[in-house]
Amino acid sequence: MDKIKITFPNGSTQEFDKGITGYQIAESISSRLAQEALVIELNGIIEDLNLPIDFNAAIRILTFEDKEGKEVYWHSTSHLMAHAVHDIYPEAKFGVGPAIENGFYYDVDINSQLNEEDLQKIEERMLKISKEDNNFVRQDLTKNEAINFFEKKGDNYKLEILSEIDENSEGVSIYKEGSFTDLCRGPHLPSTGKIKYVKLLNISGSYWRGDEHNKQLQRIYGISFPKKKLLDEYLQKLEEAKKRDHRRLGKELELFLISNNIGSGLPVWLPKGAILRETLECYLRDEQRKRGYLPVITPHIGNINLYKTSGHYPYYKDSQFPPIQLEEGKEEYLLRPMNCPHHFQIYLSKPRSYRDLPIRYAEFGTVYRYEQSGELNGLTRVRSFSIDDSHIFVRQDQLKDEVCDVIDLIQTIFSQMGFTDFESQLSFRDDNVDKYGGEIELWDKAQKEIREAADQMKLKYHVEEGEAAFYGPKIDFMVKDVLGRKWQLGTVQIDYVMPERFNLEYTGSDGQKHRPVVIHRAPFGSLERFIGVLIEHYAGEFPLWLAPVQAVILPVSQNFLDYAKKVEIELKNNNIRVELDDRNEKIGYKIRDWETNKVPYMLILGEKEQAAGNISLRKHKKGDVGKLSLSEFIDNIKDEIKNKK
Ligand SMILES: [Zn+2]
Ligand SMILES: [Zn+2]
Repeated sequence: MDKIKITFPNGSTQEFDKGITGYQIAESISSRLAQEALVIELNGIIEDLNLPIDFNAAIRILTFEDKEGKEVYWHSTSHLMAHAVHDIYPEAKFGVGPAIENGFYYDVDINSQLNEEDLQKIEERMLKISKEDNNFVRQDLTKNEAINFFEKKGDNYKLEILSEIDENSEGVSIYKEGSFTDLCRGPHLPSTGKIKYVKLLNISGSYWRGDEHNKQLQRIYGISFPKKKLLDEYLQKLEEAKKRDHRRLGKELELFLISNNIGSGLPVWLPKGAILRETLECYLRDEQRKRGYLPVITPHIGNINLYKTSGHYPYYKDSQFPPIQLEEGKEEYLLRPMNCPHHFQIYLSKPRSYRDLPIRYAEFGTVYRYEQSGELNGLTRVRSFSIDDSHIFVRQDQLKDEVCDVIDLIQTIFSQMGFTDFESQLSFRDDNVDKYGGEIELWDKAQKEIREAADQMKLKYHVEEGEAAFYGPKIDFMVKDVLGRKWQLGTVQIDYVMPERFNLEYTGSDGQKHRPVVIHRAPFGSLERFIGVLIEHYAGEFPLWLAPVQAVILPVSQNFLDYAKKVEIELKNNNIRVELDDRNEKIGYKIRDWETNKVPYMLILGEKEQAAGNISLRKHKKGDVGKLSLSEFIDNIKDEIKNKK
């Protein structure tokens, strides 16, 4: 019999009979691996575990621990769910059912509106089918055979998908599991029995193919796990995430408002949210001042020609508000989608010499993007947001040091916010050089220097080739919040294209004209998104230096209002953000109320305190911490604020 050579991830190789399957290879390693194996990676392509292998291959056996394993697990569960839906609603027709970051969904077209109870029923049915342990059986068909099959089934959505498949390049396959068959490329789990624990999470409306002219289907979201412990942990995290939801906390803590009278996706900062935002802005301004950044302020709209030069118009016009025309045939303006062209005009406003560089212009610049209404979400997906933007103009020989300094700034900020766990992605070009602007030699030099900068700054990073912007390589920073969720925040982008388009120049030491390199960078990314993430990260319990209200004064009765007012003035004179609660309510009620408002300090003032001229102090979540003289309290709290505690 013919033999094939299998190479394992550790580099070791072994010979097997031709036609062996991934499952059999796993079995030859250990029965435990065979038990946990879900799919196999064959020369970089994920395949069914039971596919006979008849060529030499490098393999990885994938389990639920692997990202790709989870994907296949969840996608296979979407088949199982469709099966269950079909059992209960025989009229059901199906759209698409992919795995997503956490779990899967399937778009279904049935005659009734699903509710929680229905989800429960579908879930139970799924578990029943899972116990049948049906194999996922692949069958390759011609396009015509597949069309015949789904015509008989009466599944018009699948027929529409089929009509767009190019048979020659992709091939057509169906997967059968028990009595249910679906059009799918695969791969899948070996059998439904691998799916042990399922939770259907919610239902939302979804237009077929995302087009609102099409029929609205019901999108069912769910997740599944091989172990009960994993499901429990996930549900607990979900509960915690709900409690931390920034949309809910934003309302409760009166931080921001989204008013339909103003417009969807256009957040309004309420006084407490505005204080939070101002505090963050001040913090970044101070950091930037130390590092030689210069503040600038530019308008929110600009002549459309600026954006024609930059290429933002018309190429990205679908994601922008339409132009404003002043008079027929006259000038047009655009709500700016980017700040860069405005800052370039400042650079261009006078001749620059090599000695002037680097020049660092910084602005909290508000931009406007026309996001689809379905994409809008609290502060994290909006139509107007402020980038903590800066454009740094450097000579090529200054690039590496400048990138190091930007990385240092981002590290400083993340560490201050308690984002101890973050990763970065170095997005580089791929070999398709036509996709990119600027000179490729400069790109390669920049990529080398970015990597050196990342090493020097001890960044935890991975490199993605082909992920660069067309104008240059970049670094994106993803932070993990306390729940382990990943958020993309800061970014550093090198740009070789805009300097050419805007004809940016400086005079070198040789007396000749040269092009500067532009670095676009934003440590927060956008203030809206950053604050949305911060709210969830802190669960609304902001550290003292960020808290919109740092202390609240609670007189135990109206008799002590005068003393309370004196204390209030004293604290305000010391720049402490304080509120006086002069409501005629029981002290216990007031304490509970402010506790849910998550205010760091409460000053309780009664008879004894007034007589002694001191205060009784309560700390959020800690309770009573004893009596203090007012000056002692002021010294302490000022010290804590200064040290950003
Ligand atoms: Zn599938
Ligand atoms: Zn920019």
